[in-house]
Amino acid sequence: MILLSRFQEIMNEVFLLLGSNEGDRLNWLQKAIELLCKNVGKVITSTSVYETAAWGLQEQQSFYNLVLKMETIQDVLQLLSSIQNIEHICGRQRTQKWGARTLDIDILYFNCDIIEKETLKVPHPFLAERRFTLVPLVAIAAEKVHPALHKTNEQLLIECSDQLPVTRIDVVLKT
Ligand code: ADP
Ligand code: MG
Repeated sequence: MILLSRFQEIMNEVFLLLGSNEGDRLNWLQKAIELLCKNVGKVITSTSVYETAAWGLQEQQSFYNLVLKMETIQDVLQLLSSIQNIEHICGRQRTQKWGARTLDIDILYFNCDIIEKETLKVPHPFLAERRFTLVPLVAIAAEKVHPALHKTNEQLLIECSDQLPVTRIDVVLKT
């Protein structure tokens, strides 16, 4: 019993946004899920894949995004390092800001923590401004409350002024 409650204490609930707009996008997302399962923890829920036009730079493929709810025993800095390692394995080159990328993994929420470090801001600073983040998030966590804005994801989506269409495509990847 004591062991069990210790275990529960260190289990963290995390929401990740995965995105790809370069190469075989579905393949990169699937590979990322496999590596996250191997190196980070257990996937509790995954959304389907959503498609959004790329913004920032023109002449790019559209983005495929999905949100994962996971459990992990890693602390948030270990998690950041794990996801950057996975981006690297999946061929991510950090060249141009907002340039095409094989794989982007962002930490949306880490428990109800608020983290304001130079290298890491959680909840993700643009979470409330991007429909491509909020639409999948609401699909699996409509009622979750943003710890700094004190609004549910659903409320944030209703209030979001982003106009970019986000379309659910008929693909659910293996978790
Ligand atoms: P973006 O996701 O904004 O397109 P990058 O993926 O290149 O940009 O991330 C740039 C930096 O953002 C990373 O090196 C990381 O240290 C930092 N960062 C800050 N907050 C977060 C977060 N919540 N999730 C992931 N990276 C973050
Ligand atoms: Mg990123």
